[in-house]
Amino acid sequence: MSTTFSKLGVPQWVSEALARQGITEPFQIQKITIKEGLDGDDICGRAPTGSGKTLAFGIPLVVRTKAAKPRKPQSLILAPTRELADQICKELRAFSGKRIVSVVYGGVSYGPQRKALTKGVDILVACPGRLEDLIEQRELTLEDVKQVVIDEADRMADMGFMPAVKRILDQTSKERQTILFSATLDHDVAKLKKHYQRNPVTREIGEKTPDIKNADHTYAIAKKAEKPELVAKAVNSTWPAIIFCRTRHGADRLVKQLKRLDIDSEPIHGGKSQHQRKRALKNFSTGKVQALVATDVAARGIHVDGVALVVHYDPPEDHKAYIHRSGRTARAGSQGVVLSIIQPEQKKNAKKLQKRLGITESIREINADQLPEIQSQPQKETQQKTRHEHKRANESRTTSKPKGKKPANRNSKGSAKKRPQNKKHKPRKSNASQQKRKSNKNNHQKSQQNQAKRSNNGSQKSQPNRKARRAHLQHKK
Ligand code: ADP
Ligand code: MG
Repeated sequence: MSTTFSKLGVPQWVSEALARQGITEPFQIQKITIKEGLDGDDICGRAPTGSGKTLAFGIPLVVRTKAAKPRKPQSLILAPTRELADQICKELRAFSGKRIVSVVYGGVSYGPQRKALTKGVDILVACPGRLEDLIEQRELTLEDVKQVVIDEADRMADMGFMPAVKRILDQTSKERQTILFSATLDHDVAKLKKHYQRNPVTREIGEKTPDIKNADHTYAIAKKAEKPELVAKAVNSTWPAIIFCRTRHGADRLVKQLKRLDIDSEPIHGGKSQHQRKRALKNFSTGKVQALVATDVAARGIHVDGVALVVHYDPPEDHKAYIHRSGRTARAGSQGVVLSIIQPEQKKNAKKLQKRLGITESIREINADQLPEIQSQPQKETQQKTRHEHKRANESRTTSKPKGKKPANRNSKGSAKKRPQNKKHKPRKSNASQQKRKSNKNNHQKSQQNQAKRSNNGSQKSQPNRKARRAHLQHKK
């Protein structure tokens, strides 16, 4: 039965703002939580990635939040990562009307956050660490907080934020509404529910383990040294892609290796500054780069529409991590491919993992040479198109660039999915230099020289950073 936001009690000004973004019909989780949320009930919700949880809690929050005094927010949303906090803030601002939504997290300067708090923030989206810092510095208090949302509560627990979350909750109003969303409701989340919620309505959709069955799960066996080329082939035929590595160093190294194989990618991990992470996300979501190379922690909560491929470049830590990584694709009803690259000696563990996930039947081994046979992805087409349009707008050249090292083109079957000549650009070059390059008859040669130069740069640069990277490795979660 179709329902509308209005039927759930969402005021017209909100539903109109949503409709302007093409959001007209509530998703399942929204259908079964928004009314309760608007009534002020505590909610404990479990739903798979991409099911629309942000609006499920965001709409009631925007509607119920009153104007705040300076430094005394009325509503608080806790999120585990900076990227997720940013995304929530952005999504809420799109329909928040006169309610002021702002975000605080670490890794960036305090100034603008202090300024916003002083002016008054009605709905504050926060990562626990920076929030506690700001509270300690007396930049805000939480006594007026009457609505709290804990988003991705299970990740929050995984990342060791639970003690901070509890300390924070203890400072909010006793009469608060507490909304909790999580991919799983066991362990720490169950404890939170027990101690911090009052008669919560529990709403669960999808299978207990988040549904990743929408994606086409594949794997390929490759020796360590063969992996970069394999992943380059995969990304070359299917992107945008998110590639998961175990360590920060591994992610940085792979970005360089991919560059040599003509694939533009950006690393995203805890060793990058907030600015770098933001830029990486932007370049990825606008199609400037084809792939994000990420570590698990950094990738939590990233939502980019239309991710076509997820690659487990290094095996996930456990089945939960597999689910979480894989959930970056095939979101909100669209399709996607998951490719696990498994080294021969990792086969046994991989089999165990597949068994634990219950996908042994539906996961296919694919040959490294015909990678990956991707089913048509009708929903993605519009997304891909806009990306290409964007690229076209950004790029001046259409001639092909030297592909000395480019993996051999495969059969025509995959051509529909072939990356549309997007590899001609060198993103860090200015337009002017691109033009020049285009008109150069010795395009081929020149580009090869560039490539050589790039590799040299790469190896030179890698020297001084090695120590720092080793330190990162040690800290890695
Ligand atoms: P989750 O938090 O459950 O992982 P999100 O809230 O990030 O999922 O939603 C996933 C995507 O679906 C977002 O791009 C969001 O804008 C979109 N979306 C959410 N609800 C609706 C809706 N009712 N109609 C259309 N798109 C929606
Ligand atoms: Mg979410």
